Parts: sequence; structure tokens; C-alpha cells
Amino acid sequence: MLRTVSCSASLTSASPFFRFFPRSYSSLSSSTGALRGNLRRVSNPSSAGRRVFLRRGLRVPSVAGRGVNRQFSRLSVRAVATQPAPSYPDVGQDEAEKLGYEKVSEEFISECKSKATLFRHKKTGCEVMSVSNEDENKVFGIVLRTPPKDSTGIPHILEHSVLCGSRKYPLKEPFVELLKGSLHTFLNAFTYPDRTCYPVASTNAKDFYNLVDVYLDAVFFPKCVDDVHTFQQEGWHYELNDPSEDISYKGVVFNEMKGVYSQPDNILGRIAQQAISPDNTYGVDSGGDPKDIPKLTFQEFQEFHRKFYHPSNARIWFYGDDDPLQRLRILSEYLDMFEASPSPDTSKIVPQKLFSEPIRIVEKYPAGRDGDLKKKNMVCINWLLSEKALDLETQLALGFLDHLMLGTPASPLRKILLESGLGEALVSSGMSDELLQPQFSVSMKGVSEDNVQKVEELIMSTLKKLAEEGFDSEAVEASMNTIEFSLRENNTGSFPRGLSLMLQSIAKWIYDMDPFEPLKYTEPLKALKARIAEEGSKAVFSPLIEQFILNNSHRVTIEMQPDPEKASQEEAEEKSILEKVKAGMTEEDLAELARATEELRLKQETPDPPEALRCVPSLNLSDIPKEPTYVPTEVGDINGVKVLRHDLFTNDIVYAEVVFDMGSLKHELLPLVPLFCQSLMEMGTKDLSFVQLNQLIGRKTGGISVYPLTSSVRGKAEPCSKFVVRGKSMAGRAEDLFNLMNCLLQEVQFTDQQRFKQFVSQSIARMENRLRGSGHGVAAARMDAMLNIAGWMSEQMGGLSYLEFLRTLEKKVDEDWEGISSSLEEIRRSLLARNGCIVNMTADGKSLTNIEKSLEKFLDLLPENPSGGLVTWDGRLPLRNEAIVIPTQVNYVGKAGNIYSTGYELDGSAYVISKHISTTWLWDRVRVSGGAYGGFCDFDSHSGVFSFLSYRDPNLLKTLDIYDGTGDFLRGLEMDQETLTKAIIGTIGDVDSYQLPDAKGYSSLMRHLLGVTDEERQRKREEILTTSLKDFKDFAEAIDVVRDKGVAVAVASAEDIDAANNARSNFFEVKKAL
Ligand SMILES: [Zn+2]
Repeated sequence: MLRTVSCSASLTSASPFFRFFPRSYSSLSSSTGALRGNLRRVSNPSSAGRRVFLRRGLRVPSVAGRGVNRQFSRLSVRAVATQPAPSYPDVGQDEAEKLGYEKVSEEFISECKSKATLFRHKKTGCEVMSVSNEDENKVFGIVLRTPPKDSTGIPHILEHSVLCGSRKYPLKEPFVELLKGSLHTFLNAFTYPDRTCYPVASTNAKDFYNLVDVYLDAVFFPKCVDDVHTFQQEGWHYELNDPSEDISYKGVVFNEMKGVYSQPDNILGRIAQQAISPDNTYGVDSGGDPKDIPKLTFQEFQEFHRKFYHPSNARIWFYGDDDPLQRLRILSEYLDMFEASPSPDTSKIVPQKLFSEPIRIVEKYPAGRDGDLKKKNMVCINWLLSEKALDLETQLALGFLDHLMLGTPASPLRKILLESGLGEALVSSGMSDELLQPQFSVSMKGVSEDNVQKVEELIMSTLKKLAEEGFDSEAVEASMNTIEFSLRENNTGSFPRGLSLMLQSIAKWIYDMDPFEPLKYTEPLKALKARIAEEGSKAVFSPLIEQFILNNSHRVTIEMQPDPEKASQEEAEEKSILEKVKAGMTEEDLAELARATEELRLKQETPDPPEALRCVPSLNLSDIPKEPTYVPTEVGDINGVKVLRHDLFTNDIVYAEVVFDMGSLKHELLPLVPLFCQSLMEMGTKDLSFVQLNQLIGRKTGGISVYPLTSSVRGKAEPCSKFVVRGKSMAGRAEDLFNLMNCLLQEVQFTDQQRFKQFVSQSIARMENRLRGSGHGVAAARMDAMLNIAGWMSEQMGGLSYLEFLRTLEKKVDEDWEGISSSLEEIRRSLLARNGCIVNMTADGKSLTNIEKSLEKFLDLLPENPSGGLVTWDGRLPLRNEAIVIPTQVNYVGKAGNIYSTGYELDGSAYVISKHISTTWLWDRVRVSGGAYGGFCDFDSHSGVFSFLSYRDPNLLKTLDIYDGTGDFLRGLEMDQETLTKAIIGTIGDVDSYQLPDAKGYSSLMRHLLGVTDEERQRKREEILTTSLKDFKDFAEAIDVVRDKGVAVAVASAEDIDAANNARSNFFEVKKAL
């Protein structure tokens, strides 16, 4: 369970909605591979991974799954790292004809070393892109054009619903069966403003085709169009448990969207999108406005599916090393059942005509009562850049311009806005070309009323100045190198490469444009580079700023004002609507509604019969490798420093981590560590300003980041607490990489008081956003801080305690800057030392040897020992139930306890059981019948903490009761061998998650730090594979400790907390946070 503190990653209006909330930790824990190591990585906003590259491709919603976002760079059309183009199996014209397709075009795409063929299914017109290469991580996706006419959330509710049972798979949720029992490397679905995507990925061919079949059947033949219950469950319904009680709204999407509409950043993004395109489908919310969702009828829902979920309106993507003929065969089975439909015409997106005059909008958003509301305004300026699609070179140039203006803390527009002191932080700013027409926006939050105008003027005058003066050549070089590096590295993190390519391609293909074009960036990039070299960057970028921004009258300015009444007003409005509904019902109606509520609940809580479950294809245990994946690791020594080397093919890139021990750091300095990290990256040295230093990093490396890391270590009282410097570069530039690391660590001066002040206010803004958007993460951190030392350390650097610390620190920066500055120096002296340092390197063997000298030099420059003696970490928060108050329409509810305290000894079966609890008990009770967007549990094998968490949850005490029932659920569990096998396979899928080479090297380091040996991994694997029903029952005893001795923490609305404390005499200690 890896905890991160999320940062500035942007979320724009174009972000899709996911079908299920990917648990915040899962994507990251896979990158440690340390069987869910409880490593909390506290990141700072300037870490390399978060640099924004050309803003193309998917923006993974940052609900809390920011881990995905962090690793996923935007310009994702990148080469699969293989040797020169081999030939791939081909589908002949005749073979295609026989199966009912015509070959439209075929190209070898050198950028991704793939052969891509576009087919057209003759009968329906469905287009199929078949991409063949050596990538074992196979991807399938089906994408439908689904433009909504209103904000009832039709496409979003349908996206949730089609995965709830289909013709061939008539069970409640085949999707969940796949989540439980497949080896998928990706499984989800998302709704964009104008399209809906259903992607899956797997490295196992049999598993892959199973996933494909379930998805195809779901999309074309879902049960939900005949079953109003699914619509009610996923969309909305009235809930009435007893005629004497009040009626309420329930529904998974309804509550998911209530969460979205509780976050000011999200509200701003939606208003911006709707205001900039008022006349076409982008003028409404495809996700659904909670006020409008209850207006949606089942008939409209059915009609929408009939109209748009048709092969004629679909685009299908296949990618990977499987047989391309097999792909067409599978598809024919489905496509041949349909005739052509007129849907492609009805689903066409009409462009928004450009405005002749700019417009201005003032809106309110729900805010808490505390804090200085005068300083909580938000401003956003948006431009719609063009009526027609742009050519690829112009798009690339705009992406480049975006990186130059906003991509790093040193980028002028970002820097000037933040340094102005007019606001706290930027919100989702930049170029976006995911929808039909490209957009550009700049937004700032934490602005005081009287500064709103000034921010607008500053944005405009800075853009003007950039058009007039251009960018300096160092900055252009840095941006170019950053972009080229990311192209070469092609690092999509835990996101499959084939999916990232699909999302690139579909962004044009969906509008009937060339699907190959977005994949071929080399030539236009070369041309752009040549133009910059010949004409100078100013000649390239200034006309772009003028044409698309300054002289563009399609500009929308939005001002958002905080309104402390709004949340309760909305609640009151909803209540009054529901009261009217109730008043309009007869006694019989009410009895009928209560009966229907009960019927729905019973249906939801009744498990599928075994026959139905059996129809979902799954693997056998014999399909599963018996051994874990081993990462080649050689442990050596340079001048007394332990060095781990991983010889892996990395396409000529070197990845290096230098790890320092935090064992000499004074307790009171701990909460300053994240700001210490940001200061290292963003303060500059005696000779180099921070802008110059940042540009040097951009020009010579692939990025450097610094962050603290903490975890419990199983069987030890002392936590693992480290400070990590992580960087990457081309192998030939490793010397520069280590020189720059040294420069950051040893030469940066902590003298810039004004910049430090900005860091503090940005961090406050970020933490406040985190409370609203990832309250479950805040709750989890809080519980961990009560239960173990590593948790306490992490909470000090990224939880509610950290927010409290920052608020005090903000005042202190003016009063005692000297003191803070010398504390930062003291942190440096306590951390930097050769003694206790560990280095981890991932590259090919030759590079590993070549870089040794540079590494040696770097290590020689480090001080021998840290200053100050060893300290003992022993902090904990007092054990108590806490409720953290924020203005929200939905809650986050957690409960946790330490199962090792019962004498339980770790067994691999614990992973199977915990996954099973998440995907059955909690999914059914917290999500399906409870109406929350997510409910899950997590077991940290290092500390023994078992925690339950819910996400965007309309309930509070009810959810805690469900958690408490887990032990009884396990005791009463009945399970046939097939279900058990599925649970085991799904767990292996998590443990064996697909990793790119850098992630493999990093995981190996994490295991080393936490003392997880390969022998232990093998033993765990055997235990997982032999898990029995008895293990589940035995585990019930251990898990009861959470019920009996656990702590509960909720991040919730004041009303719900009051109600809970009334119902259960002051169960919670109340803490106000926002
Ligand atoms: Zn959703």
C-alpha cells in the first residue's frame, strides 16, 4: 500500500469518467511489486514524472489514482523498445474478404515499430485498426461516439450499466468477475464528453481473448436495456426503506457525480468546457449533473443505447503480438449480426462557431465557512483555438509552446503567475486537443476578490510579452530535449503502451480523420526542429501566440466565488424536491416504493448462481507461472556504498536512485521535508538561478525528482524511512545526471524567502484539494498514523497534520525566515551522507559499467557521516475515532486495525482474501446497494494494518457496520473450487502486474529496502496458489480485530457527522479541516 501525496497534475474538462474507481494505491503498488509494500512516497510538485509534456493523449482522471497520472506522460506516441523492424504476421486481402472486411490501408509505423492495418467491416461499416508488433501487453478497445444532448449523464450511466450482464454472460456484473479472476493489465471503461471507450489489456493470450469477448458482448448485447434495476442501481432511483422515513436518491453515478461537484477545481473545469462550446454537445455534462440525473428516464436510456451502441458507430482497436487473423474472426462473430445503421450521421459532432466577442461569467462554488473566504476566488481564461482541425505540425508546435509556457516551474507563464503572489496555485492550465477543437486555458485559485482583475491582466500581458520577446534558447533546448527524451523512453508507467497509442489515434479517428496520422510524429517533429533552427524560435512561436490566443476573440473568462451557503442550499433544494415527491404519493405508492427498494436490495445482495458465474471464461491454475518474475540484481560496493545493478534493456537510458537514510533527522523537522525537497528543485545555487538549473536538468537529463519514503518493516519496530533522489538520462549523459544530482543536493541555497512562501501556499492549496478529492487517502493516512510509526511519519509529511503544520508555517515565514532557512540546512546535513546510502541503477550491462566512474565521483563528494546522532522514531497519533469536517455532498469512510496484534502470522492467502473481500462483500454492500462510488480494503503486509475505505459514499455509520460484518461474512462464506481458483488467479494478476524496465529496477530496490527476499516471494506465491476455504474462515478471527479494536476515521459533511454523533452518542471526535 503505497501512499502518495498527490500534486499539481491537471484535470481538465476533457477528462473522462472511469467505470470504477481504480484504487489509489494499486497502480503504484504494482510499481513496487513488493506485495503491496506500505511505502509512502511523499512527492513534491517538481518531481520529474510530473512534468507536463505535450498535452496530448489521455488525462487520467486524478480522483485519487494520481499514481497513474504521475507516470503517464502526455506525449505518448512512442517507440516500443525493440530492435529494427521485424516482419509481423499479415492478413491477406482474400482472408479479410472471406471474413467480410476490406483492407482500407496499411502502414509500417516506425515510431512504434508496428504494422498497422485499417479494415472496414463491409456490412456495417465498422472500422477496425489492427496493430501488430512485439509488445506482449496486448490491448483491445472499442470506442463509440456518444454525444449527449443534456446533462442527465446518459452516456456515463450507460457506460457503467453495459458491464452489468449481457446475453452470453447473464450475471450481475461480468466486469467484476473479470476484476476478480483475470490476469488483466488494464480493465476499465471511460466516458468522455463525446465518446465512450471500453479498453482491456493482458499479456496472456487466452486471458486477453476472454476479456475481449466479455467486452464485445457487453457493448452490443447488454442486459441493462431490458432491466430497469441496473439503470436504477448505476444511474438513480428513489430509496425508501420504510414509508415513515424520508425518500432519498441513490445510484452509483449519482454519488460519483456528487463527489465531482463537491470539488471546486472540477466545477471550474466543467463550467469552462460548457461555456466555451455552448452550441454543441460540449455545452452539457456527459458525466451528469446531480441536479439533472434524476430527470433521466429509462426509455431515453434504452433509446440512447439503440442509437449509438452499434457497429456502424464503433471504432475497434487491436494491438500487440497476437495473431491478426484471429482478431478479425472474433469480431466477425459479432459484427455480422448487424445491418448498417444511420448512427454515424446522428452522432457527428458539430464544431462550435467561434465567438466574435469574448465573454465573461461569474459563478459560485460551495466553500467551507472557515478560513478567509475573500481569498478563495478562482479565475480561468479559456480560448477555443480554431473552428477547423489543425495539421499535425501546428498541433506539435502548440504542444511545444504549451511546455515552454507552463511545463515546468521555470516556465515563464507559470513562474510569473506564481511569483506575483496574486493567487495560491494554478489549476488545470494548458493546451488540450482531445476534443474536436483544440483549447487553451490558464486558471488560478486562491485569488482575493480585489486581485481577480489583476490576474486576468497579468495573464494577458505575459502572453503579449512572450509573443513580443520570444523564449530564450536554453528554454527551447530544454523543452525539446524533454519532449524527445519522453518519446524515446516511451514510459507509460503502469498504463499499457498500446492503450496510450489507441487514445492518441482515436482523438482524430473519432472525428472521421486519419487514425494513422497521430502516431507518426517523427517527420513533423523534425520539420518543426528544422524551422526553429533556421528561423529561430520566435518566428515559430510568436505567430502562434498571436493567432490562436491574443487575436482570438473566442475567449471565455470565468470567475468563481466561494459561497459558504451553497452546499447547504443545494442539500435543502434536493430535500424539498424529495419531500414534494413524497407528498405527491398515496399510501399505496409509498408502500410500493418501499417494496421496490427492498426488492432491488435483495436482488443486489443475492449472489449469482454458480452456473451463471461459470459462463465467464477464466484461466486454470495450470496457466499460471509457478515462479514470480525475478529481476536481475547484482549487489556490489563502491567506496563503502552498497550499489544494486539491474541489467535490463532500457533503450539506452540509465535510471538511477540514490537513497539516504532519515535516521538522523530530528522529529520536529519532519514536516519540513516535503518543502525541503521542493526547495532543492526550485531555489537555485550561488551561480545558477533556479530557472537556469531547471533548464540544465531539462537539457541534459530525462528529469530528476527528490522525495521522502516511509514504510513499516515486518518484524521490526523501526520503520524504514528514506530520502530518495531519482533521475534518468541517456547513457552517454550519466555524468551530467550525477553532476546535477550533486549540484541539487549540495549547492542549492535556501535563501529565497519569497519562493518558499509560494511553496507553502501552493502546498496548502494542494492539501485542501486532496481533502475534497481524495478524502479516503487522508482518512487512511490518519488511521495509519494512529497504528504505526511509519504511518505517523507519513502523515506528518502529507496528511491532515501536515496541512495544520503548513497553516502555522505560513505565518512563520514572515516572522522567522532565518530560523526556517537554517532548519532546511539542518535537514540537508542530517540526510546527506555516504554512510547508510544505497544506490540503485537500471540499464543494460555495458552502460552500467560505463557509468561507474561518474557514480564514484558523485559518492566521493558526499560527506562521510550525517550531522547529529541517530534518533529513535516513536511518534503516533492518539487512538480515537475521528471525523474530519469538509464541505462535501459525499463522504469518505475508513476503519482500520492491526491484525498482527492478534498473533496472526503473514500467509500469502491474506492477499487472496483481502482482494476477495474488496470485490465481493464491499463491492456489493458499499457500492452496489450502498450507492458509493467505491468501497475496498487494503492489507499492508509490512505493518499488519488492515483497512477498509469508501469513496464518494452517501452513507457513514451504515458503511462502518458493513466493515464490522466482514468477519461474519468470511465465517459464513461458501465457495466452490472455481470461484476460489478465480480469486487466486486474480491475485496472481495483481502480484505479477506488467512492468516496464525502470519499474522492475525500482521494485527490486523497494524489496531490498523492506527486506523482502526472492525466497519469501516464492513462498508467498505458493501460499497464494494453495489458498483454501479454510484460510478464509481462519482469517475471520484475525480481521475481527478491526471491528473490536480498530479506529474509524471519516472525512465527511458536518450534517452527516452530527447525525452520526447523535445516533451513536459522540462516536467521533470532530475536527474541522475546511
Ligand atoms: Zn463513473
